[in-house]
Amino acid sequence: MTIRIPYGRQTVDESDVRAVLETLKSDWLTQGPAVEKFEKALADYCGVKYAVAYSSGTAALHGAYAAAGLGPGDELITTALTFAATANAALYVGAEPAFADVDADSGLLNAASVETAATKKTKAIATVDYAGQPVDYDAFRALCRKNKWTFISDACHSLGAVYKGKKVGGLADLSVFSFHPVKSITTGEGGAVLTNDAALAAKLRGFRQHGITKDGMAQNPGEWFYEMQALGMNYRLTDIQCALGLSQMARLEQFMGRRRALAARYARAFADVPGVRLLPERTDSVSAWHLYPVRVAGRDRVFKSLRAAGLGVQVHYIPVHLHPHYRGLGYAADLCPNARAFYAGEISLPMFPTLTDAQQDETVSAVRAALEQVHADRPAR
Ligand SMILES: *Cc1c(COP(=O)(O)O)cnc(C)c1O
Repeated sequence: MTIRIPYGRQTVDESDVRAVLETLKSDWLTQGPAVEKFEKALADYCGVKYAVAYSSGTAALHGAYAAAGLGPGDELITTALTFAATANAALYVGAEPAFADVDADSGLLNAASVETAATKKTKAIATVDYAGQPVDYDAFRALCRKNKWTFISDACHSLGAVYKGKKVGGLADLSVFSFHPVKSITTGEGGAVLTNDAALAAKLRGFRQHGITKDGMAQNPGEWFYEMQALGMNYRLTDIQCALGLSQMARLEQFMGRRRALAARYARAFADVPGVRLLPERTDSVSAWHLYPVRVAGRDRVFKSLRAAGLGVQVHYIPVHLHPHYRGLGYAADLCPNARAFYAGEISLPMFPTLTDAQQDETVSAVRAALEQVHADRPAR
């Protein structure tokens, strides 16, 4: 069955195309002026001092964990209800990811569970704004301050979200965004780390570019000279991509408005549908609505029925510790019962700015029909 309506997709218009074409004809395809312009647009939007663009959200997580000084013998506490990259980046730097559980309703990392999971080796935490909804940043900031941990926010779902009147991006020590096509804005592949700390920003810039710098050199024999002061990567984002990102930033609020309108429409449509559990919304924050997760009984059969109807629904996420690589590292399957229960019932419905009302209505009808079918086939209890 071909997928007619995906769960997420990019919004690219003629102004984006023009921006990319102009850059292609310019002097700089990479390491040029579009990078700084895009970084400034991100930093200004989020009200943060520094933004450092990276080649992907995953590369940005790697940079953030390296800048935080995570390494062998250190532990990073995160959620299992996330894309594997959040935990994988800890492995990249030789640190150990540990999984704390989520709230059963929201799927957001639970601060009390993080406290329980902490050990002497804990050095940082990485929260995830699941589906675009901000975590309780105040609670995690207080916890990190008390324990002298670095607070990293994997905000790959939540560019555009607001927590207690403040944009996500400046609420943790390091905040990470992704610009994959299904995210709030896109650069094709791309990511960024935001921080208010000048020293962390310098580390992020170094790590992105082989650890090469002209700052603070021990010697300077001439214009040609530079030093590789630490081991880094080539995680640069090109000017072509940054031009697209900058053009997309101009429409971010418009994208957010449509996502919020779609979320409100879904909530109204499902209000009288028994057996569909929606995400609770905090009154003190505004979600970026990266995903529209619902939870249902008989998930596998409902999922299959929606796919058969041509809907590109998806499941977010298989808890990270259940993947074979993590089981092989010794992580027990019975960790994080709330994350596993959340996963067992979850389906992500189509949610992206160009989703039409008619496509959304079709989705709601398909969910209703699938639920009726699944329930009709079940023995009465
Ligand atoms: C998308 C995503 C990433 C990875 O971003 P890429 O740009 O695809 O590398 C990391 N964490 C979360 C929560 C994500 O949704």
